[in-house]
Amino acid sequence: MRKDMKCWECKTGKYSYKNVDFSVHGISLGKFKAKVCNKCKDTVFDEKVSDKIDALAKKKGLWGLESHTKVGKVGNSLDIKIAHKVAKFLELKKGEEVTIYPESKNRLIVDIG
Ligand SMILES: [Zn+2]
Repeated sequence: MRKDMKCWECKTGKYSYKNVDFSVHGISLGKFKAKVCNKCKDTVFDEKVSDKIDALAKKKGLWGLESHTKVGKVGNSLDIKIAHKVAKFLELKKGEEVTIYPESKNRLIVDIG
């Protein structure tokens, strides 16, 4: 077994090249060649492929949608600002009704539409 084909994650599996679907924020960017472990399914993209994926994600406006924000306060309620690029991606507009619920102690889900 070639050393670089041994799985870095589980250390017992072996990578082989496969075409795998890659999606960002639920939007598929297509299929890309990656090394996939036959045991733990760890997936590794070569640098060249990673660059291509990054470029595609940027082109589709799927880049940098994760943002940090501070919790504000309005009356007795707290409010969280949604960055412009995120709102644009979600096609979310002022006045729209959403449903908010905690998924766990450290995750808040916002359902739109
Ligand atoms: Zn593995």
